[in-house]
Amino acid sequence: MTDDQRAWPPSLWVETAGPEQVCAPLSGDTQVEVAIVGAGFTGLSAALHLAEAGHTVRVLEAAQPGWGASGRNGGQVNPGWKLLPEEIETLHGREQGRCINTMADAACDLVFDLIARHDMDCDAVRPGYVQGAQSRRGIGFLENWVRQWSARGAPVELLSRRETMELLGTEAYLQALLDRRGGNIQPLRYARGLASAAMGAGALVHGDSPALSLRRDARGWRLASSNGSLLAEQVLICTNGYTDSLWPGLATAVVPVASFVAATEPLDVQRLAAILPGRHAVSEARRVQVYYRMDADGRFVIGGRGNLFNAAQAGDVAHVHAEACRLFPILAHVKWQFHWGGYTAMTLSHTPKLMKLAPGLHAGMGYNGRGIAMATMMGKQMALAVTGEQPDMPVEPMSRIPLHGLRQAGISFRLMAGTLLDRCEHLTERRGGMRLLGDE
Ligand SMILES: Cc1cc2nc3c(=O)[nH]c(=O)nc-3n(C[C@H](O)[C@H](O)[C@H](O)COP(=O)(O)OP(=O)(O)OC[C@H]3O[C@@H](n4cnc5c(N)ncnc54)[C@H](O)[C@@H]3O)c2cc1C
Repeated sequence: MTDDQRAWPPSLWVETAGPEQVCAPLSGDTQVEVAIVGAGFTGLSAALHLAEAGHTVRVLEAAQPGWGASGRNGGQVNPGWKLLPEEIETLHGREQGRCINTMADAACDLVFDLIARHDMDCDAVRPGYVQGAQSRRGIGFLENWVRQWSARGAPVELLSRRETMELLGTEAYLQALLDRRGGNIQPLRYARGLASAAMGAGALVHGDSPALSLRRDARGWRLASSNGSLLAEQVLICTNGYTDSLWPGLATAVVPVASFVAATEPLDVQRLAAILPGRHAVSEARRVQVYYRMDADGRFVIGGRGNLFNAAQAGDVAHVHAEACRLFPILAHVKWQFHWGGYTAMTLSHTPKLMKLAPGLHAGMGYNGRGIAMATMMGKQMALAVTGEQPDMPVEPMSRIPLHGLRQAGISFRLMAGTLLDRCEHLTERRGGMRLLGDE
């Protein structure tokens, strides 16, 4: 990575994170029990859990902690996986599926518990996560989510159109679900909080330390960086949408997809009262959705599809601005202060992967855009894999995605088609005057 590539993107989170946390590079040759590649939520959570369990741990990060998706995301602590609990039980079988659902259910708690336990200053609020629907198809998804998660004891409920309007201040939705497990954080401060907690527990986190090569010899795993090397008993690769060629073929286990976020300047009193008065984290039950929230200073923050092939480029600014005004017409003349992008990692099954690449070598990635809670939980699961305990995540061999090179183009096409289908569905149902729960 060049210095330019390693520079922080000019995002809202960098601007409001306070003084930079600078971790010194690795220098010299050192022996360690566990070496971790990547200092995002996954790697840092693994480091924290392993250091707390008494292991010697070093983290190698090509830039600085939180530089990847962890410091650039929308900051919404989303509950659950993309798939519904019953779909997970079908995919993995009843017993394993139940285990996964229980773990997924605990993921938001894990984030907010770590924040409280380590006193992390990251603007954490937990008013709940709301998902709005504009079509019959979307409502079907919400109904299934509420039915299946409430059967498993989660605090979720379906809201009528009027309740949704009152909760969010937008007339865009026919119905919504409220899932009280979710909330919002300042993600870069959370990443730095995890790094501080891991270092406080004894782990060493090295910035500006790309892992350049990885090989096994008779003594263990050897990881070379620019100015030093590690000899480790076990290695965890936690590089998600930024996975490079460190381990042959690993980059083809996920498809990196750019997502894009924009934030307004702090809103005036009138807009603050009208937009998301409960400060919920919101997304949509659509094929191509946006997600939005307020930050601690009263900025409206909205994310959507990015420039698919290059997250560093501004992305589709007009798209997210237009979506913001569709939801809240009073945003029409506000000034947009920040725009930035980053890479998420998608999998074919829409589920995260904990992969065993070789004895003593694991990788955890593929959060499909919902990684704050799940990457934190993955780090904990990877720590279990290292200590020889049985993780709740299924441990799989590495699977390459067929026709990987064409997948980004495929996703691009699916997004275009999805946008069109969403629009048609919405228009048809508006014309048909769909009446719903709570309509007057
Ligand atoms: C714009 C955007 C918005 C999002 N919004 C949300 C949201 O609101 N809610 C939510 O739950 N999820 C969201 N996500 C997803 C979430 O941010 C990610 O799933 C999560 O941060 C992944 O964490 P990670 O630690 O696995 O990977 P990352 O945070 O991406 O970290 C990977 C790290 O690995 C490092 N690395 C790569 N190769 C090497 C190497 N060879 N040597 C050393 N270091 C290396 C990189 O520099 C990087 O820092 C969003 C993602 C994006 C991009």
